[in-house]
Amino acid sequence: MASTPEFQHTVGKTASLSGTSLHTGEKVSLKLHPAPVDHGIKFKRKDLQDEPTIDARIENLKTVERATTIGEGSVRVHTVEHVLAALSAMGVDNVIVEMDANEPPIGDGSAQPYVELIKKAGVTVQEEPQKFFDVREPIHVESKTGGLLILLADERFRISCTQAGPNNRFTQFLSMEVTPTVFEREIAPARTFVFYEDVQSLMDKNLIKGGSLENAIVVRGEAVLSKEPLRFTDEFVRHKILDIIGDLALVGRRIRGHVVAVKPGHATNAELVRALAREQTRRSAMAVPRAMPAGNGGLDTDEVMQILPHRYPFLMVDRIIGFEGENKITGIKSITINEPFFQGHFPGHPVMPGVMQVEAMAQVASILLFKLTKTSSRVGYFMSADQVKFRKPVFPGDTIFIHAELTRARGNRMAKTKCHCVVNDAVVSEGELMFTFLDK
Ligand SMILES: [Zn+2]
Repeated sequence: MASTPEFQHTVGKTASLSGTSLHTGEKVSLKLHPAPVDHGIKFKRKDLQDEPTIDARIENLKTVERATTIGEGSVRVHTVEHVLAALSAMGVDNVIVEMDANEPPIGDGSAQPYVELIKKAGVTVQEEPQKFFDVREPIHVESKTGGLLILLADERFRISCTQAGPNNRFTQFLSMEVTPTVFEREIAPARTFVFYEDVQSLMDKNLIKGGSLENAIVVRGEAVLSKEPLRFTDEFVRHKILDIIGDLALVGRRIRGHVVAVKPGHATNAELVRALAREQTRRSAMAVPRAMPAGNGGLDTDEVMQILPHRYPFLMVDRIIGFEGENKITGIKSITINEPFFQGHFPGHPVMPGVMQVEAMAQVASILLFKLTKTSSRVGYFMSADQVKFRKPVFPGDTIFIHAELTRARGNRMAKTKCHCVVNDAVVSEGELMFTFLDK
């Protein structure tokens, strides 16, 4: 991945912009304020009592009907995607977006006014490294309306987008790497567009009070209606890319990956963000801590060997990373080519025997049981295994994360655990193991 460390950025100073909000037609002024490292992008409602702030994070996503709305409690901020796109693409990680209404000014329907605002405020580097989401395996989401988003591994942030209107009118395609320069020149000026058949229903619902040909392009049949001529022949797909960048900012991390989008929309974009957030949670849950936690946090090899009677070559856990509550434990085992079983399993094609993974699960689970029983006079004996599945081969060089969870315990006599082994974020084996307790 990136060889030079990349640092977080905020705005250099406060800068402000005013205009009209699209959906309510109210006057609104928006200010960008500098914010400290790891703050993220937060919206502040200056017009409300106590001036509540809302994190621009997927957890706060409320609605995606034509625009992206975030909120907490009863507080809402509508149509955040254009300002988020500009902040994200121009490299601003930490900022307070203060507003005196529930929606940013629509401007000309593009992100250009926000790019100018960010340039007015300046972008300054901070002392903490940026947080990235690196794509390891393809992730895809699909909507009922035909939207499709696929995220592929890439060292850069790229978007390849196909946009198609009703009956595939105005089908357009564009592919690019998103950098501040490219965004400012190729994407930010692209304006919001609507198909006439869609706006009619919005007008009926009174959803676009501030809407006019000054802040949106209206397509009626084959005719393109706007105050100013098209800024690009493929302006629509460019605006779709703008919206994707804005919605993906809700991940709260910079994405290193290639987004392949077909007929994207806010709902599909939000689904992708949710998928990334789930993946991020999963990764954080099994990241190896930098230092071994003291006390109950984890156990080093010596401590493991004080509990388990097993020794080389049969000790199948290097250390315990940590416990989660009373019922969960995670251990790790690094598999090297020097493991004795590779001698015979198989010469020229070394694969870790599945039964050794079951043994690793049993050892980690018995450490959990040892902690539960809190006595060294009784020891858990591995009694039976059920539902064992081997899903992927384990090779020399792999590090196995061994997870065990206590699912049933009957007094001090027997216990049932659910276990799985993970390599490179994929489950390689799993099983339900039963133990009985006996005096040593
Ligand atoms: Zn938009």
